[in-house]
Amino acid sequence: MVSAPPPSAGPGLRAELRFLKGVGPRRAAELERAGLRTSDDLLHRFPLRYEDRSRLVRSGDLRPGEAAAIRGRVVSTGLRQTRRRGFSLFEMLLRDDAGTFRAVWMNQPYLKTAFSAGQRVLLYGTPEWRDPGGLRLSNPQYELLGDGDRDEEEPAGEDGTDDRGETGPLHGARVVPVYERVGTLTTRQLRTLVRRALAQLPDDLDDPLPAGLRARRRLPDLSRALREAHFPPPGAPLALLDRFRTPAQVRLILEELFLFRLALEVRGQARARERKPHVVRVDDRIRRSALAVLPFRLTPGQKGALRTIVGDLCRPHPMNRLLQGDVGCGKTIVALLAALVALENGLQVAFMAPTELLAEQHYLTLRPLLARSRFRVVSLTGSQGAKARRETLAALAAGDAHLAVGTHALVQPSVGFRALGLAIIDEQHRFGVRQRATLREKGRSPDVLVMTATPIPRSLALTAYGDLDVSVIRDRPPGRTPVDTRIEPESRRDAVHALVERELRRARQAYVVCPLVDESDKVDLKAAAVMVDALARRFPGHAVDVLHGRMRPDEREAVMARFARGDVHVLVATTVIEVGVDVPGAAVMVVEDAERFGLAQLHQLRGRVGRGPGRAWCRLLYREPLSEVGRARLEAVAGTGDGFELAERDLELRGPGEVLGTRQSGLPALRVANLVRDRDIMEMARDEAERAIREGGAADLLARLDAGWTERFGLAGIG
Ligand code: ADP
Ligand code: MG
Repeated sequence: MVSAPPPSAGPGLRAELRFLKGVGPRRAAELERAGLRTSDDLLHRFPLRYEDRSRLVRSGDLRPGEAAAIRGRVVSTGLRQTRRRGFSLFEMLLRDDAGTFRAVWMNQPYLKTAFSAGQRVLLYGTPEWRDPGGLRLSNPQYELLGDGDRDEEEPAGEDGTDDRGETGPLHGARVVPVYERVGTLTTRQLRTLVRRALAQLPDDLDDPLPAGLRARRRLPDLSRALREAHFPPPGAPLALLDRFRTPAQVRLILEELFLFRLALEVRGQARARERKPHVVRVDDRIRRSALAVLPFRLTPGQKGALRTIVGDLCRPHPMNRLLQGDVGCGKTIVALLAALVALENGLQVAFMAPTELLAEQHYLTLRPLLARSRFRVVSLTGSQGAKARRETLAALAAGDAHLAVGTHALVQPSVGFRALGLAIIDEQHRFGVRQRATLREKGRSPDVLVMTATPIPRSLALTAYGDLDVSVIRDRPPGRTPVDTRIEPESRRDAVHALVERELRRARQAYVVCPLVDESDKVDLKAAAVMVDALARRFPGHAVDVLHGRMRPDEREAVMARFARGDVHVLVATTVIEVGVDVPGAAVMVVEDAERFGLAQLHQLRGRVGRGPGRAWCRLLYREPLSEVGRARLEAVAGTGDGFELAERDLELRGPGEVLGTRQSGLPALRVANLVRDRDIMEMARDEAERAIREGGAADLLARLDAGWTERFGLAGIG
């Protein structure tokens, strides 16, 4: 698409973070891993919350339990080891014009080199009363003040030039933003980077929000909104800030949701005009043929989903439907029956899975079911030999092969269909938006069915997906015993391993999952390696292997395949365990540091066991002390086997950002908006988008934006 330079991306926002003062190659890499490459990325990452440090007090007015900012001069410092080995205490005595006060920091011995007598510092923290010792600030936030910074008598929080200048307190004496860490970058360091990025912004940034809209809603322009969202002006009410409802915050959230809705509306209109070149009909013969392949009775949930999907197939414009259902609820057979309807109508079907192993499993499931039909099932994966592949491609192009099951090998340019009428995408969130779009383009307006096992609360799915229709299977095939799930403190690991051992002796298998903070983090890999060694010693005579995110995909699949065959008995894994893979022998799932996982993630992990006959166990080990919310979350997992119920509960406990992990869920990767918190703004956005379309110019507005954001919203994939 040829387009004018995108608005909101003048040099100021496009500036690359790696050229920012204070960002070397290591930090640049850390930022990049978190998706932060430009000022635009950094500034569209909201603070987690804000702290009011403008309450500057004197030492005589420090009160236990009342957070305060205080300035003083360092009198003396000292580092001492405590009786507990490996612990240190850095102490500092300070003086202001009202007297002296103390501050201590635990286990930060390097502070010794940061402070020296005579220095001026600003501290922020909550004083506590210690007996003996008296009042002290424990682990306060600190900032060194230059002597010229500000007169001690000057009232706090009036430094109006803070946002632009490089001087003036950044971390205190004002409402300060608190950021989630990025790799090793602390909130302090991020605050400094954000301020530097803001300092580079011109005042007249191109604004993607139409001026009329801004005026109507009384919202600031982009440049001001960015400044104030990070460094709120003096007097900004903390209550509004923490609810993300100041005009600056609302403006940025609205912008994102407005563009998102606008794109959905524009695309929805195009969709409504689209017509399939083929007609699908369902008659008794087709019904009989479907019944003939069916190996069991469908559950009511499966029947309902199938009826809706077949209804879509028979309509003149293309289906665009998401089938959601917990792991093991039986989505594959529903997809197959839908495929059969298309096949009986003379159309070809593509069934795409995210890994070779899954594609293979689907192929092995589907082929025998269609063995007695006149339809030919072929498999297309990356590991196929050249000759077999050529033959398969020829058959698909000629229409001699009817159902193609495969990996992303299906979207290669060399793959062509004679009449692709239905594209089925399993575990849709595992595919890039391009791959999904490319598969769609292999047919002429084919019907598209995407499937996911990630439970997304319905209310959320509706707003998030816009014109994607959603069907949900909520029940399960009969005869499943729920996975016996319990939470246990780490100290019970031995008992848990005894359970694993018992099952290993019965020739069953186990997963041991360790959390991974960061896929590139060597520390975690080491932890996984140590775990493998420990378990190999604990379970002599059993094969223990490891699966982690640093392995190449083919290595990962090889290990997974060995586990699926039963050659590996205990699989130590980070969360990269393949979704959807059936390993009937897997009976026990042990999750280490379970409190560090999302609920949806834990539920998915649990779904890896109990996929064959016999009982199954899931043990969630946690590290003490466990917070109240932490306990509530783990107990929620133990308390229900219903993924949707859990997703709702997780929403309540944590909010959707963390819960669903947008990557995992396939929800749009919104930067500042939050689908649960911002439902009201979503409504505003929808009204404004409809208005923009009525008034014309919506397409122009969208065309001026660069391609990045449609990708982010995941629009290209379902579009
Ligand atoms: P998922 O929704 O996780 O993809 P699958 O389609 O892999 O689930 O189904 C899980 C298992 O349940 C498969 O072994 C499948 O054959 C079986 N299954 C699916 N539907 C039924 C049913 N109605 N009755 C009995 N077994 C079923
Ligand atoms: Mg599946």
